[in-house]
Amino acid sequence: MIKAKKSLGQNFLIDTNILNQIVNCVEIENKNILEIGPGTGNLTKYILSKKPKEFTVIERDDDLIIVLKDRFKENINIIHDDVLNIDETSIFNESVIVFGNLPYNISTEILSKWIINLKNNFWFESLVLMFQKEVADRIIASYNNSNYGRLSILANWKLEIKKICDIKPSSFSPKPKIDSSLLLFTPKKNFYKIKNPKNLEKITRVFFNNRRKMIKKPFNQIFNGDLKILKKLKIDLNLRPQNLNFETYYKLAEEYENLRG
Ligand code: SAM
Repeated sequence: MIKAKKSLGQNFLIDTNILNQIVNCVEIENKNILEIGPGTGNLTKYILSKKPKEFTVIERDDDLIIVLKDRFKENINIIHDDVLNIDETSIFNESVIVFGNLPYNISTEILSKWIINLKNNFWFESLVLMFQKEVADRIIASYNNSNYGRLSILANWKLEIKKICDIKPSSFSPKPKIDSSLLLFTPKKNFYKIKNPKNLEKITRVFFNNRRKMIKKPFNQIFNGDLKILKKLKIDLNLRPQNLNFETYYKLAEEYENLRG
């Protein structure tokens, strides 16, 4: 009997309806699959039943590695490591579908890392990821919404995002204290060609530093009151950061890069 480790965010999925919903939201047959944090293999089993081409999992917990080897034998490739140490682009030569019922304490870090490292050719064709519902609400929020902010702007830059379902604590063992949501991400064909994602991060960090205040101060801090940019992007400095839509932030990042040469 495996005792779940809180420190590794271990809440194992036991709800067959949800497990079915996860594996049915994308086509798995004959596709390369990467699963992050397979745990005892509950989702792994469902994925395997859909006949993937190659199937690799990354799990950090020593005890669970033994369970996975015993349960799945040669049917999956097991990487025993911390996902944050892995260059995910080097695992497969072809595009991959990623599944992750991620530990909540590192889920945004992983997603941000993947988006920031994305080149023009995507290493994945979709991501099927579970988040704490509150975090998922921030990822999918659009402008004029109180959840809209740095994470929504970064995630929506290169990815199409769809919510598949919300998941109650009773779907897991042990039960977490919070609700979860499953999100499906697919690459956008067209997105703003910001050269360095760090510039987009900087703009959103400064603008959302005080989300209740007007954007005059952060705009002046970054653009030194440049009227040409204000006019070109039709920005009203009396607005609050959450009132500027996605495109405006991407264009601001491009203007910032133009200024810096
Ligand atoms: N996917 C399984 C399920 O649905 O039943 C388990 C999900 S559980 C929320 C998260 C899993 O991620 C655990 O198995 C945990 O050991 C693993 N994990 C935690 N931190 C990790 C890390 N940094 N790298 C890889 N796996 C990690």
